[in-house]
Amino acid sequence: MLHIEDLNVSYSYLQVLWDVSLHVDRGEVVTLIGSNGAGKTTLVSALFGLVPAIGGRIEFEGENISGMAPFEIVRRGLSLVPEKRELFPRMTVRENLELGAFATGRKGDPDRVFELFPHLAERQDQDAGTLSGGEQQMLAIARCLMANPRMIVLDEPSLGLSPKLVHTVLEAVERLNSEGITILLVEQNVRRALEISHRAYVIEAGRITRSGRSSEILHDEQIREAYLGL
Ligand code: ATP
Repeated sequence: MLHIEDLNVSYSYLQVLWDVSLHVDRGEVVTLIGSNGAGKTTLVSALFGLVPAIGGRIEFEGENISGMAPFEIVRRGLSLVPEKRELFPRMTVRENLELGAFATGRKGDPDRVFELFPHLAERQDQDAGTLSGGEQQMLAIARCLMANPRMIVLDEPSLGLSPKLVHTVLEAVERLNSEGITILLVEQNVRRALEISHRAYVIEAGRITRSGRSSEILHDEQIREAYLGL
């Protein structure tokens, strides 16, 4: 479904991604793990045309999307839940959701996502900035669903959340996948992310250094030492 081939990205003279190749098949959850500064957010940003690539190719459902504007990519069925959530704090939950459909050119129907996130329905007239951290993350995910994506990319969705909320957010990710949405998950809660994903890639200093089935990666000695502190 998504194929990234030999992606290279630099910020002026500093190259941060080196020949990154990865793919996500339809129906999969694929986790990308890596330590701080490894290049995970840069990869996600390049995927959505938010930073330019200096080389490589990105294909979504067989179409070359390299160099496309972010809204064009969203229109094709690939959506992003960004690392910092980027909600509009002074707009209501419902208004934030309606903006999620904007790129598609259609007026979205928040009632559909309220079925998935009933808790947000109860707060639909509340300003987004007054929601708790976990609720804001759910809203960011719900907003991304308003564009009717077939695949979503989540950049560290559990960042800053308590262990219980991490569980809730990753459970929501699992549920979306079971409803047919393909997922690329960037996550620092490595154990839980590997438990809910089919395959995983490890990125170190801008290069993919490992890939395989999540169950294998989870039991790899080096990974356990480097990312799970075991
Ligand atoms: P984290 O887990 O801490 O979010 P990350 O794996 O997402 O890290 P990136 O944010 O992609 O890492 O950063 C990769 C490297 O690129 C880092 O060394 C960072 O300092 C650098 N970098 C990121 N954004 C910029 C920018 N706009 N200008 C210059 N350098 C940048």
